[in-house]
Amino acid sequence: MSEITHPTIKDGWFREISDMWPGQAMILKVNQVLHHEKSKYQDVLVFESSDHGTVLVLDNVIQSTERDEFSYQEMITHLAMNSHPNPKSVLVIGGGDGGVLREVVKHESVEKAILCDIDEAVIRVSKKYLPGMSIGFQHPAVDVHIGDGFKFLADRKDEFDVIITDSSDPEGPAESLFQKPYFELLSGALKDGGVITTQGSENQWLHLPLITKLKKDCKEVFPVAEYAYTTIPTYPSGQIGFMVCCKDPNRDVKNPLRSWSPEEEEKLCKYYNKEIHKASFILPTFARKALK
Ligand code: SAM
Repeated sequence: MSEITHPTIKDGWFREISDMWPGQAMILKVNQVLHHEKSKYQDVLVFESSDHGTVLVLDNVIQSTERDEFSYQEMITHLAMNSHPNPKSVLVIGGGDGGVLREVVKHESVEKAILCDIDEAVIRVSKKYLPGMSIGFQHPAVDVHIGDGFKFLADRKDEFDVIITDSSDPEGPAESLFQKPYFELLSGALKDGGVITTQGSENQWLHLPLITKLKKDCKEVFPVAEYAYTTIPTYPSGQIGFMVCCKDPNRDVKNPLRSWSPEEEEKLCKYYNKEIHKASFILPTFARKALK
């Protein structure tokens, strides 16, 4: 079989070069390129790395690596799920690698988990090359819808307890998922007391103005809107943030409403625990000042 090449891979190294993180780039050593295609929406690349397991890349941006994906998937999911008293119906927008779904169904309260991703290619490729994440698609409560999350939400009212937006970055098909009209659709699709988390467009080192605008937009739609972050080695600057919002003005999303026992936490999670739930909202002074 002839070797698959890709413009981001030179001399056996993948380079994540982008104007979204000027002057810096993550590079990962490549053992073998497993898949490359141009789907209807994005460039889809999968490679086996030397030290980070299998890696999924969309439009030249790292989405998930087997070595550290759990940090992001657990935090974006459990910050929302444990901020809700009894989450039964959950919606994931994006999340085509299946990792967030895998985390959602760890909550016994879940009766329905719908995933809406715009690109069938990501789901197909994740099922083939990322079994540890795509296992999320196998759960009986899961339903998959292929389509634009923005359009999917337009006619959903008072239906979900939790909505998690696990999208790619604002450049590309996910652009509309970072704007205020989208947050208004999220609010309309949530039941009373509903909670959302959304990928907060990278991190406080690189995108503070963007995050400040995101929080301002969320605050105009939700009575509670807080920013939290997690550490994850293969995302730019080694971290990524989330907006965590709630329709209930009295909900304190910074302190888990529900939590597992320490034993259950160790069984279920590799990153999330109730202490790090609280800690993830504690920001460095420069970010706290900007996001006040
Ligand atoms: N964890 C990754 C991150 O934070 O970068 C994202 C994982 S997941 C692969 C991102 C998903 O968002 C992709 O599968 C992509 O197809 C999907 N996506 C992008 N724009 C979308 C839209 N408008 N509606 C639904 N899904 C979308």
